[in-house]
Amino acid sequence: MGVVRFSVVTAFPEYFHAFLNTSIVGKAIKEGKIEVEIVNLRDFAQNSYGQIDDYSYGGGGMVIMPEPLYKALESIKSDKAYVVYPSPQGVILTQDVVEALAAKDHVILICGHYEGIDERFVEKCVDLEISIGDYVLTGGELPAMVIIDAVSRLIPGVVGKKEAVLEDSFYKGMLDYPHYTRPAEWNGIQVPEELTSGDHERTARWRMRQAALRTLSRRPDLLPRAGIRPYLSRGIYVMLVHHPVLNKNDEVVTSAVTGLDLHDISRSCMTYGVDKFLVITPLKSQRDMIHKITAHWERASKEGLNPMRSEALNLVKTFNSIEFAIMWIKRREKEKPFIVATTAKKRKGAIPWLELKRTILEQDAPLCLVFGTSWGLADEIFNQVDAVLDPILGGYGEYNHLSVRSAVAVALDRFFGSR
Ligand code: SAM
Repeated sequence: MGVVRFSVVTAFPEYFHAFLNTSIVGKAIKEGKIEVEIVNLRDFAQNSYGQIDDYSYGGGGMVIMPEPLYKALESIKSDKAYVVYPSPQGVILTQDVVEALAAKDHVILICGHYEGIDERFVEKCVDLEISIGDYVLTGGELPAMVIIDAVSRLIPGVVGKKEAVLEDSFYKGMLDYPHYTRPAEWNGIQVPEELTSGDHERTARWRMRQAALRTLSRRPDLLPRAGIRPYLSRGIYVMLVHHPVLNKNDEVVTSAVTGLDLHDISRSCMTYGVDKFLVITPLKSQRDMIHKITAHWERASKEGLNPMRSEALNLVKTFNSIEFAIMWIKRREKEKPFIVATTAKKRKGAIPWLELKRTILEQDAPLCLVFGTSWGLADEIFNQVDAVLDPILGGYGEYNHLSVRSAVAVALDRFFGSR
């Protein structure tokens, strides 16, 4: 992301004078971090009266004519120009849209007025219509300023402290935490003690929790796309069970550990902020093999070969039973984890992933996601867990026979992935 160039086509350039010379946006322009040029539509008028609009065909108010807009556009268009028409009929401006615009080199904003602009110009020249909300303004100048302001904040160095942007609302899809300044007591209301304690870790924990609670109560609609891992203060564990699991005849068996699972699941765990990858097998020979593999990669890493792989494999911890693994989590976390079993088959009482995501954020308890190998977890496990997750479906046909590696990656991305 470099310097973003904005060109604004407007019949009312005077709107922009204060905006472009004030505060953060004004400073960003002076420092050359963004470029904004204002193009007066009247300079491209049809006649010497400065005409840029005419009556709407079929009756109604005034509409901006296509030719002045086209000429204005031609005068500023660059190879990489992206043409935006702020309009109440456009896609709603969200942080995703702002991020997409911040990745462009040159954004041209066409400001409508009166009844709007001639539809043929929109069809021929506009890449995206953007609405700043479901209400109607008199012109596109305020929306253009809103877009420039929101995009500019994402340009490195425009907002003073990098952290200020990272913790804003909608960062990772969540709302911001509440802010306070001096005095510490105002009108009998104290600033929360967590912020005045001087304990940075406590302050950070409190802020993340407030952000989570605010998002849950005010904007639960943000949750599907939110990356909630930074907002959870407790450990997250992925458990891969090789016993008791079912074979294709529904018999309880012990499956074999595979190198692919070890490598791929530990890499997924590392990517999504899982604390430990617990591999369950009652067979000592299999546990020895796992230790051999992880030791091999640790040695390789010390010799400078693929340190990222050993970093991921470091998450692996073996246990001979599920019970021992849960006891170990309990000891580590000083609390019983919330245990969730996964299945590829539909089960009564299973909960949708979004409901589970909400529960995880609400409870902020240690979490253990249990995955089965072979034909899935044995029935006895489902009676002992706190929740069962609905099967992952592709949304196409009935087939959902994913490898356990894929199922882990999909589940982790739903809960902790950032979009
Ligand atoms: N007749 C249009 C309609 O109902 O869709 C409304 C035209 S509005 C009065 C005039 C101009 O203001 C629009 O062309 C657009 O540029 C701008 N505008 C108004 N409301 C807007 C909004 N919510 N978001 C973005 N632009 C808006």
